[in-house]
Amino acid sequence: MPALNPTHDPARRSWVEAANDLRGDFPIQNLPFGIFRRHGEPAQSARAGVAIGDQILDLVACLDAGLLAGTSAEAAARLAATGGTLNTLMAAGNGASSALRAGLSDMLSHGGAISARARAEAARILVPMEEAELGLPAAIGAFTDFLTSIYHTERGGRMTRPDSPVPQNFRHLPIAYNSRASTVVSSGHAIRRPNGQRRRPEGEIAFGPCEHLDFELELGLFVGPGNAMGEPIALRAAPEHIFGFCLVNDWSARDIQRWESHPLGPFLAKSAATTISPWVVTAEAMAPFRIAAFARPASDPAPLPYLADPADQEEGGMDLGLEAFILTARMRERGEAPARLTATNFRHMYWTFGQMLTHHASNGCALRPGDLIASGTTSGPTDEARACLSELNLDPSTRSRRAIALPNGESRLWLDDGDEVIFRARAERPGFVPIGFGECRGRVDPAPAWPA
Ligand code: CA
Repeated sequence: MPALNPTHDPARRSWVEAANDLRGDFPIQNLPFGIFRRHGEPAQSARAGVAIGDQILDLVACLDAGLLAGTSAEAAARLAATGGTLNTLMAAGNGASSALRAGLSDMLSHGGAISARARAEAARILVPMEEAELGLPAAIGAFTDFLTSIYHTERGGRMTRPDSPVPQNFRHLPIAYNSRASTVVSSGHAIRRPNGQRRRPEGEIAFGPCEHLDFELELGLFVGPGNAMGEPIALRAAPEHIFGFCLVNDWSARDIQRWESHPLGPFLAKSAATTISPWVVTAEAMAPFRIAAFARPASDPAPLPYLADPADQEEGGMDLGLEAFILTARMRERGEAPARLTATNFRHMYWTFGQMLTHHASNGCALRPGDLIASGTTSGPTDEARACLSELNLDPSTRSRRAIALPNGESRLWLDDGDEVIFRARAERPGFVPIGFGECRGRVDPAPAWPA
């Protein structure tokens, strides 16, 4: 696991004043990487930046200004500045991103070796976030979605398998399916309601706009260095392949999913759109928030040896608070605040990201830099920790669904057109500066008319 070092020092403060507001997401202890361009700039000018307070540090501008010349961060900054994606930096391994993080922390801190020169260049190297748009951080070659919350699995199973809601394999392996990389978009993109085939409750088989559109609050992992096809990844080595994390909304068409998923699993219900937060919080930035893996009840099977490792058990989990909000069209029109639907924590996940990665590559499947691996819906044990509508709208006593009430008097069984779903995440631990993930936000637009 990444170790603590001076970049995590809670006393460290930045000359970018907004970064010192400890309620913010992007203090100097965070330094997540992203791809941005100024509003109005052409797509090909998208380049790597780092979030600091309410600003984006432009890595290309830093290189142009010679600020990193001669430091150990310079080579890694050149990798980050390659190709308009973070893939090259991800491929270089965590030594490179760690050297870059150390150099940037020094540059952005009060009293750092090059901070006076950087501050003099502030107008050149900083871009206000409100003047920029953020794209996908990586060219995502493949996207895999896991199912690793036992609470989500159990609540979902109550409807369809009331006698044994958790499938037998769940406790033996991290379940997943290969999802679709081509429709992963960055926060802020509107999502079109998918059309699809489904079987209505009364039995009619029909094609048309999804009637049961849902969100799933998940955490994503970006793969750093990959593995060659045929060469698995030992669990103890898994951290070397984990670059960082983002929020993931796995938009889910439940009516399409119910009809199409047997016997091969989800297909079109999941591939219409996936939204991710644009800032990649590095595994190193999350080092203070590592915790023990999920404590399995003694009656659960122990993981097989390839999924067992003492270090992963000790610190393979993460203490990360996750929230989901809804902003309906009416709330937006009236200037009301979004309503919170979910408050959960990544500590509830039954399997660690290390176990997911190792299981994924265990058959020799090649993972590549920039691949996205999502955790599955991050539901916890309590009612407020239900991380999708299909759990929130479930009445377990009657095994039926009922609309949930929103604070402004509206109600939702599933998502309406015009609804916006917003995720946020925050890691906190006494003695450390809290860090956030920024937003993962998407609005539902009406389904497209079927082409004539
Ligand atoms: Ca999912």
